[in-house]
Amino acid sequence: MEFLQEHREFRDLVRRVVADEIEPFVDEWEQQGSFPGHRLFAALGSLGLLGLEYDPSYGGQGVDHSFTVIFGEELGRVSCGGVPMAIAVQTDMATPALHRFGSEELKRQYLVPAIKGDMIASIAVTEPDAGSDVAGIKTRARRDGQDWVITGSKLYITNGTQADWLCVLARTSDEGGYRGMSQIVFPTSTPGFHVSRKLDKLGNRSSDTAALSFDEARVPVANTIGEIGRGFQQQMAQFQNERMIAAYMAVGSMEVALSRTAAYLRDRQTFGKPLLENQYIQFRLAELTAEVDLLRHYNYACAEAYIRGEDTTRFATIAKLKAGRLQREVADWCLQFHGGYGYMEETWVSRYFRDSRLLSIGGGADEVMLRILTQIGGYT
Ligand SMILES: Cc1cc2nc3c(=O)[nH]c(=O)nc-3n(C[C@H](O)[C@H](O)[C@H](O)COP(=O)(O)OP(=O)(O)OC[C@H]3O[C@@H](n4cnc5c(N)ncnc54)[C@H](O)[C@@H]3O)c2cc1C
Repeated sequence: MEFLQEHREFRDLVRRVVADEIEPFVDEWEQQGSFPGHRLFAALGSLGLLGLEYDPSYGGQGVDHSFTVIFGEELGRVSCGGVPMAIAVQTDMATPALHRFGSEELKRQYLVPAIKGDMIASIAVTEPDAGSDVAGIKTRARRDGQDWVITGSKLYITNGTQADWLCVLARTSDEGGYRGMSQIVFPTSTPGFHVSRKLDKLGNRSSDTAALSFDEARVPVANTIGEIGRGFQQQMAQFQNERMIAAYMAVGSMEVALSRTAAYLRDRQTFGKPLLENQYIQFRLAELTAEVDLLRHYNYACAEAYIRGEDTTRFATIAKLKAGRLQREVADWCLQFHGGYGYMEETWVSRYFRDSRLLSIGGGADEVMLRILTQIGGYT
């Protein structure tokens, strides 16, 4: 992938924004268990960072996916996983389907403020009885005239306590399996909607995650994104964006983790010399760095295919699988080489270790990625 001057300038801009708007507050937000979404998103929105690839007529920047790659890599460099994930939910997980399939009116009402950072969006797919198997969702939208009446619950929803609207996947007919689901823009001010619980988590603590419930909550049928009954298929397309940005962020995070670890090992002495002078440690860091580099260039190949308009399901699936596994490995080695210090809550690496665990679960677990690759490869 060729990066030009404009890409370099964009990378500098994102790095500056992260340094000014996010990094100084990370510890406070991690302790608090949430971050001020409206304030941060308004700041990011005013710089055009929440709608990079979106149509300028809705406030987007209209640039190609190469800028999303840079955005993801730079977000990954933040010293926590929670805030980058929350931002990526807004830009690449909850809004792509609305941009791609939504009606003009729906986009004016919900996409424009999401791009500006005036509204926070969540993606609401997972339920207590259906995570990996999306076809198992039970949240029901019953048609009553020009309204959907929604009943059900969603679980583990990122930005869930702060969201102004949700991209909800619900059953809109009695057809089973992959049929009869629709994506619906659901304003959280709707009567019958409740945040049942804010969830306490192992990692990504600065991001709020919630259990949500819908009790006969009424929204217009006009809030349906795209075609009624095509929600599952549209969501599968939206998952590709989610998996791609997750892989881009992983590269940024691993790059920082390995370089911070090397810096620590240069200073820390054992047996009369810096730890970094042990060839075993040098080899481990060199090999992990090489693997990160392989993922980075695989990501670039994925992004180039996406820019060419190709189906990137296989690319995105492999990138997400590899990113999840490699990030766990990198975090584990970084913690190991920090010794007891790495196990202390006050050290960046203990947070990194906890936060890194999510990537192999969220957005489709590793085994779900393998399932997709099994199907694509015809190994059935
Ligand atoms: C912090 C966090 C944030 C999240 N944010 C969101 C969000 O914003 N919106 C949203 O909709 N969801 C969100 N999720 C949910 C996430 O996408 C699901 O947790 C994930 O898809 C796995 O579903 P599950 O937890 O129900 O696990 P299950 O489906 O119960 O699976 C459990 C485990 O079984 C294994 N497994 C599953 N299927 C197979 C199989 N066929 N073969 C072999 N092994 C298998 C996997 O290892 C999997 O981890 C979030 C989750 C977390 C933890």
